[in-house]
Amino acid sequence: METDEVKKRVSIVRYERPLDSVKKAVDLCRGLDHLPRSARVFIKPNIVFWTKSVPFPKWGVITTSRVVEDVVILLKEHGIENITIGEGMVTFDPKDTETPHHAFESLGYPVLKKRYGVEYVNVHERPFEKQDLGDGISLHFNTDFLHSDFLVDLPVLKTHAQTVVSLGIKNIKGTIDINSRKKCHSPDPVKDLNFMISRYLKVIPPCLTILDGIYTTERGPGFDGKVRRSNVLVASPDMLSADLVGARILGYDTGDVPYLVHAARLQGRPLDLSDVEIAGERIADVASRHQYEFPYTEDGSLPLPMKRMGIEGLSYWKYDLTMCTYCSLVNGPVLVGIAQAWGGKAWDDVEVLTGKIMKPTPGKKKTILLGKCMYQANKDNPDIQEMIAVKGCPPSPKKIVEAFQKAGISLSSTLLEQIDMLPGFFMRKYEGKPEFDESFFKIQKGDVVD
Ligand code: SF4
Repeated sequence: METDEVKKRVSIVRYERPLDSVKKAVDLCRGLDHLPRSARVFIKPNIVFWTKSVPFPKWGVITTSRVVEDVVILLKEHGIENITIGEGMVTFDPKDTETPHHAFESLGYPVLKKRYGVEYVNVHERPFEKQDLGDGISLHFNTDFLHSDFLVDLPVLKTHAQTVVSLGIKNIKGTIDINSRKKCHSPDPVKDLNFMISRYLKVIPPCLTILDGIYTTERGPGFDGKVRRSNVLVASPDMLSADLVGARILGYDTGDVPYLVHAARLQGRPLDLSDVEIAGERIADVASRHQYEFPYTEDGSLPLPMKRMGIEGLSYWKYDLTMCTYCSLVNGPVLVGIAQAWGGKAWDDVEVLTGKIMKPTPGKKKTILLGKCMYQANKDNPDIQEMIAVKGCPPSPKKIVEAFQKAGISLSSTLLEQIDMLPGFFMRKYEGKPEFDESFFKIQKGDVVD
């Protein structure tokens, strides 16, 4: 039995009912066995995005409040007094503190505070501390997270258009400051986004990871992905093991997920799960392939649906790993705007470059450089005939509309200026489908006596 002792334990449980299912997942992986009662516990949900303007799809995007409350109840039963929920969501305006608080309120965290004495913090309003992660890398992490005794990491079980999957380790990105996030999307071909994410493992306290797969997402991480009701929970006291199993459940060989390859190498671990012991369901019984990439033409010059519309005279190159935060937020709406603007007449050989490393194609007539990084990387490039630059970070929606107008592409100004409204359109897909249940994102006020 000695080999069992050293194996990392992961549980896979079907979600059936409040509290019992999460409790079963935690018990099966012995997730709280070594948690002292005096511990300060930090809970990290995944609230990747929020808007207060319209209802939008949270399924498969945001950690369900159901799982958050169940975890809090288990911690309280364990005798834990000091619990803080923390998240650093990205908002279009870096100074916007109202939206994160609206998110916390809508998700029912004030009820958790009243009922269980739990605190919740927007990490962007709290101090950060520099951490040396080796290999010449340092990032600034939220101090509440860093100085906690125990972490409960609650990502959603989902794919990610850049990193293949987004699970426990990736969820830690929400504890670093905005400059550190930009740094993570590094132009360095070796120390790239996947390399950087794997280094988060160097600072995590003892932890329990629960992958919330009540809803799972293809082409995540946001509301424009394709959501499924999957009813699965994965839990482990070992974050990397939870992620390796989660990737398999989403249909990926662990060797096909670069950040997991880096993380396994960092910890001297095999990728084949030979040092993992699984309790509960078998991977094969809950696994199903979730696509992660948005489909593009073979040469990457245009999203496939736009090519199929017959769009000509435009190259809008496929996003790469260096595109970050604010540019990622505007990229989808810009593409929607272009599709809406298409009138059947070829545009004037326009090229759009994004992220930090793209280079202009010689011979293109007009080159739009989207964001400060693209402008700085290419402002003196002799291959550009007519440069149209949106220089800011965040790139201003108004300036984006002006830039495309200059290139002969009329984007609807309301689309970008009311960027907060766009997620609302994605709700239509879920209308009349009872399996997409909004109550998973609320804390029921009558459940427990206050
Ligand atoms: S301009 Fe875009 S890619 Fe550059 S740091 Fe800002 S958000 Fe990231």
